[in-house]
Amino acid sequence: MAISRRNVLIGGASAIGGALVGGAAGAYFGSTPGWRMPSHVPMAEPVQTVRELPSQADVVVIGGGIAGISTALFLNERGLSTVVLEKGVVAGEQSSRAFGWIYSNGWDLGKLELTNRSKTIWQGFAERFGEDIGFRQSGNFSLLATDDDVQGSAEWLRNALEVQPQMDARIVTGSELDALIPGASESYTAALYQASDGTAEPTWSVSRIARGAIREGVRIVAPVAARTIEREAGRVAGVHTEAGYIRAKAVVIAGGAWSSLFAGNAGVKLAQLAINSSMQRISRVAGALPGAGYGPDFAWRMMANGETAVGVSSNVSPITRDSFRYLFDFMPALEHSGGLIKVRPSSDFFASLHIPSHWSADEVSPFEHVRMLSANVDTAETGLALANLRRAYPQYDQATVLETWAGMIDATPDSTQYIGEVPDVPGLFVITGFSGNGLTTAPASGELVAQMIAGETTIVDPAIYRLNRFSDGSEYVFRH
Ligand SMILES: Cc1cc2nc3c(=O)[nH]c(=O)nc-3n(C[C@H](O)[C@H](O)[C@H](O)COP(=O)(O)OP(=O)(O)OC[C@H]3O[C@@H](n4cnc5c(N)ncnc54)[C@H](O)[C@@H]3O)c2cc1C
Repeated sequence: MAISRRNVLIGGASAIGGALVGGAAGAYFGSTPGWRMPSHVPMAEPVQTVRELPSQADVVVIGGGIAGISTALFLNERGLSTVVLEKGVVAGEQSSRAFGWIYSNGWDLGKLELTNRSKTIWQGFAERFGEDIGFRQSGNFSLLATDDDVQGSAEWLRNALEVQPQMDARIVTGSELDALIPGASESYTAALYQASDGTAEPTWSVSRIARGAIREGVRIVAPVAARTIEREAGRVAGVHTEAGYIRAKAVVIAGGAWSSLFAGNAGVKLAQLAINSSMQRISRVAGALPGAGYGPDFAWRMMANGETAVGVSSNVSPITRDSFRYLFDFMPALEHSGGLIKVRPSSDFFASLHIPSHWSADEVSPFEHVRMLSANVDTAETGLALANLRRAYPQYDQATVLETWAGMIDATPDSTQYIGEVPDVPGLFVITGFSGNGLTTAPASGELVAQMIAGETTIVDPAIYRLNRFSDGSEYVFRH
């Protein structure tokens, strides 16, 4: 979702700022409730998994969110026996807590090809699995209030059509805009609109994709946490789990907000910070906005059941040990920051100091202590977001709040996921760090990493997703 996406980009930078002033806020850290929160109540529709670990597989995928499930789907399609390890509940973390936008409207030009490929995969899921997966091609709107906004979007459109001429994004104005999203009490000059964008239903879409993957032959083992990677002669040889050892020719880290911790124990640095984002859904009203979109200070998604999900305009970057650990990686993101991320000292800082950085295969790992990571809701933000939406679209005046929730987003310094093989560790692959956009782009990212593992030509040039882009001397590019 666009607002959240921007926030995530900024989150890393803001966390740096927060880290710098963090010492001064010391006393405040311990007394303020944390933003990370373990949960035992899944939001995701249940998936029938198994607990028995096979002795070997071609590929072991660590993490049963949309990234891991998509990767497994495309590996299995290539005839590679694939086991997914999930420490808690399939889609139990970010993948069931997302807003539900599936879109490429306004995306970074370098990421458009992969993102558009992902939209195509989403469109095909229902037919592939023979059931409703929740994808609705209902359009995405960026409401543009000022001439500058319109000019910026028109420029994006010109450039986007050069690299992806088939895209149906366009600028809509006047009566067409009023007809597409009626009821505005404020005047918007135009909207950047893409009819082929859509929405999914995070509480059940990924669960159903996982069930489809199981029917196709993927084995999902849960609740079983991966602990450590085994290497033989420098090459990946398997995974030690809490339920025993599984040999594998390749291993994929798809652990969402946990990937950096897992990789760190294997001696692999993945710069990543966790950002809290809050959501709510409100009751049905006559004239509810269709599709999904955002205005200057609100974001919405029409849900499949007619309710509306409302996203916030500002996310929380809690200061943790990683804010210091990745200080220099996130530093360049500073210049892209705005007021859309709140850096917050909280008890998350002290909690993070107690999470071990290193453990062995026979020790209980941090992943077994938190089976499902949730997050505390920023009620000030959810209240504000709803007030802003009502101000702009008074048809929501009578809507009531049915539920609020939050999740921890895995953000990278340039707001771009890591996809690829770890340099110097043959057989170890990573697909993580989606920075608030993985629901959209994980399916094609999974296809990409599956192609890499299978040694095929890849659907897109994977260079911008490489893991060592912050350390190989190349220019830093912020890709929102
Ligand atoms: C509030 C919110 C709103 C969002 N809105 C949107 C949106 O509108 N559109 C969009 O495109 N994206 C959105 N996102 C982002 C999107 O949800 C994520 O990018 C995506 O779900 C990431 O998928 P994942 O599989 O990488 O991570 P996750 O879904 O978090 O899955 C990772 C899984 O790995 C498991 N795991 C971790 N470590 C281990 C281990 N050692 N052993 C076994 N299992 C392990 C975890 O238990 C977890 O289930 C949103 C995210 C949030 C939080």
